[in-house]
Amino acid sequence: MLNVPSQSFPGPSSQQRVASGGRSKVPLKQGRSLMDWIRLTKSGKDLTGLKGRLIEVTEEELKKHNKKDDCWICIRGFVYNVSPYMEYHPGGEDELMRAAGSDGTDLFDQVHRWVNYESMLKECLVGRMAMKPALPKDYHEEKKVLNGMLPQSQVTDTLAKEGPSSPSYDWFQTDSLVTIVIYTKQKDINLDSVIVDHRDDSFRAETVIKDYSYLVHVALSHEIQEDFSGLFYRKCQLVSKEDVTHDTKLFCLMLPPSTHLEVPVGQHVYLRLPITGTEIVKPYTPVCDSLFSEFKEPVLPNNIYIYFLIKIYPAGFFTPELDQLQIGDYVSVSNPEGNFIISQLQELEDLFLLAAGTGFTPMVKVLNYALTNIPSLRKVKLMFFNKTEDDIIWRSQLEKLAFKDKRFEVEFVLSAPTSEWSGKQGYISPALLSEFLKRRSDTSKVLICLCGPTPFTEQGMKMLHDLNFSKDEIHSFTA
Ligand code: FAD
Ligand code: NAP
Repeated sequence: MLNVPSQSFPGPSSQQRVASGGRSKVPLKQGRSLMDWIRLTKSGKDLTGLKGRLIEVTEEELKKHNKKDDCWICIRGFVYNVSPYMEYHPGGEDELMRAAGSDGTDLFDQVHRWVNYESMLKECLVGRMAMKPALPKDYHEEKKVLNGMLPQSQVTDTLAKEGPSSPSYDWFQTDSLVTIVIYTKQKDINLDSVIVDHRDDSFRAETVIKDYSYLVHVALSHEIQEDFSGLFYRKCQLVSKEDVTHDTKLFCLMLPPSTHLEVPVGQHVYLRLPITGTEIVKPYTPVCDSLFSEFKEPVLPNNIYIYFLIKIYPAGFFTPELDQLQIGDYVSVSNPEGNFIISQLQELEDLFLLAAGTGFTPMVKVLNYALTNIPSLRKVKLMFFNKTEDDIIWRSQLEKLAFKDKRFEVEFVLSAPTSEWSGKQGYISPALLSEFLKRRSDTSKVLICLCGPTPFTEQGMKMLHDLNFSKDEIHSFTA
């Protein structure tokens, strides 16, 4: 039996409150958690009202189901009766009602691109749209036969209308090798701008240029029925898991041998695991294996490991399952996402990092990259907020780094210290910030990065604006 807490869900500290893309989250009623939803879907109850039948839905029919207690939504050609799900939806009923009786694909992609709705809503499936649904605006699909040497090929090129000029590609084949060349017409393409996967009969290369992502997807022998507009996941093997604090662990995952994926500085990925038969997805920010790892472009694309610092919440939904994984088990890892732009660090003089708890994770690569690659950098200061000394992630590494590199300083602030603690105490506050954020001169280039529990980040942002830092000088990490 699951112990349903008496307070409202999500609890004050629940990650389920984390708003994605500025969305507001609506407190769910008791008994309406994700686990409750999964239990309902497994109960055998008829959630569509169609007794398990699947039907073809016309546009006229879809339009009729536009009320809270009778709400159908089409997502990528499949129609779901979402009325039973209304009270369980973390974004609230109003958000779902925006797509009532219509094609919600675009809306869904804006807000929930990473959610595995096929699995979450499978018991709500009414059927398929009778007519081919409209594809998202920036999506076009064309089939090309490359030059007849491969039996059948399909190429999908996802282009934003006003993006930079579209890359083209070419390919060459010998008996043992197929070489695919992508011409990007860009000078500064790094390895982390390219993601390559080869699985079974499909080859997929995604190139990120400025804010646009271009996809070449080649089916090597037969047609692919992959969903290109969602996030792409590949299965990674758990290689090691080490304790870092009493509740936080360093997980090392190994990418499949035919995948090249480097997560750019400041970006996160989604980890996906089946939990009681439903695919559950949560975001995590990869880190370096230590604060002292070399931050250099590898000469060869041999970065096969991806590291995460993850806090295990005993009453959490996802992390206890993650913690149960044995070495050799698999977890799916998505493509990276995030809006941190690395050029923000160019010519930077002062970098201030404000992190609370695991909000430290995006700071790891930012810190490492800035110290290694930004010659203008004068100071990097980290203010790290935690409850107690035991909660501080990589404390000794941080102290060693501060000792070794005089440009780096770290200050720990504890909200619930023991009586022996002689350092700073309390929560993020204007007084702490104004003392900490000393810029060298009015004209020096400064960046302040913030990450932690949503209220921490929101309060911090407000305080920084009140201290007259401009928008361009602040970056907050959120989903
Ligand atoms: P949840 O189920 O969300 O629970 C979290 C907390 O809420 C626990 O304290 C739990 O006890 C409490 N809670 C749960 N259910 C209830 C209830 N019914 N009533 C009251 N309280 C309840 N985390 C990391 O550790 N490392 C990272 O690198 C990282 N990167 C992230 C990047 C982004 C962009 C974002 C948005 C978040 C990131 N997170 C990271 C947080 C992560 O995504 C998860 O939110 C976190 O791991 C918790 O997941 P969970 O399902 O285990 O816990
Ligand atoms: P935690 O241990 O609960 O909190 C860390 C510190 O922040 C504690 O001192 C805590 O004080 C304080 N704090 C909590 N809420 C606060 C608030 N409203 N105002 C001021 N201070 C507050 O943190 P955690 O469990 O590691 O959680 C880290 C959070 O960071 C999660 O919400 C996670 O989703 C988020 N995160 C986001 C990203 C991202 O967006 N890119 C990446 C990683 C992590 P008390 O507990 O004593 O009150």
